[in-house]
Amino acid sequence: MNEFDLIAKYFTRPNRALKNADLGVGDDAALMTVSAGHQLAVSADMLVAGRHFFADADPERLGHKCLAVNLSDLAAMGAKPTWFTLSLALPSIDEAWLAAFSRGLFALADQHEIELVGGDTTRGPLTIAIQIAGEVPTGQAMLRSHAQIDDDIWVSGPLGGAAAAVMHRTGRAQLPAEIAQQCDLRLDLPQPRLVFGQAIAPFANAALDISDGLAGDLRHICQRSQCAVQIWIASVPSAAQLLHLPHELQLEAKLAGGDDYELCFTAPQSARTNIEALAQEHGLAAQRIGVIIPHGDSQPLVQFLDTTGQSMQFGFGGFDHFKN
Ligand code: ADP
Ligand code: MG
Repeated sequence: MNEFDLIAKYFTRPNRALKNADLGVGDDAALMTVSAGHQLAVSADMLVAGRHFFADADPERLGHKCLAVNLSDLAAMGAKPTWFTLSLALPSIDEAWLAAFSRGLFALADQHEIELVGGDTTRGPLTIAIQIAGEVPTGQAMLRSHAQIDDDIWVSGPLGGAAAAVMHRTGRAQLPAEIAQQCDLRLDLPQPRLVFGQAIAPFANAALDISDGLAGDLRHICQRSQCAVQIWIASVPSAAQLLHLPHELQLEAKLAGGDDYELCFTAPQSARTNIEALAQEHGLAAQRIGVIIPHGDSQPLVQFLDTTGQSMQFGFGGFDHFKN
């Protein structure tokens, strides 16, 4: 099998009508039209074996995950995804791997009605790079720079489940087998909060998806919006499985653990009832976890408060690929 057979067999779906593109895989470029009154939202994420996923990861789950993390970026903008490209470096042509990978990838793509419109394929260390595009009504995107003083800070659901899976797999913690499996699902099969992201966009100011951990990701909002945040530790919802971890690891998993792909967003207090109603409608346990405050010179950007209002210091920051 050569490169072109591989693309034709695993990444081309010839007999399907394209819903979101005028021209898809097979030419020198794909073609599409952006809906009137909308902006194009574009994002890219690259996953490298040994760095973002375990080299022996289940290929079907990997196909899901590499698209899910890209979809999650569009969810955090409030955009509706439309199409994506897939660039693959493969050490060799392993048909069983390709079949499972493309199955996981297309299952999620079909669930969100998006098209694979092109990509690139080469030999090299296993690397999966996806570029994704979507549409957002002009002016409605939730930017990291749009947080306002006194905004509520929300998360779309419980945190720490994916981090607990990593702690278990790397031997930092021991979880009962059934609990570890539940955490694996959070790590391997994240569910991007797309419909919820689009629903809250008219009410929310700033948003991002929690990929590197709440503590580190909140800093991005602070830096872009020139503000600080106060987070009430006890209000941050934990994945139920964290009860099986020692207390310090519970805190680390929920406050600094990455890979959950829940949304963190800010919204004016006047939007509380709307947001609560939307969370309920979408079956999400969204929770208000803190408030946007002005940034004073001597305070940290992200302040974690215990139930008595005392500020707590932690040694963990966000994940940085050039430090970790
Ligand atoms: P070019 O020579 O113009 O770079 P390629 O030979 O790399 O084109 O690709 C041929 C066609 O197959 C193009 O339409 C490209 O977008 C598509 N393609 C290549 N790799 C992939 C992939 N992994 N997934 C989807 N489409 C792909
Ligand atoms: Mg090419």
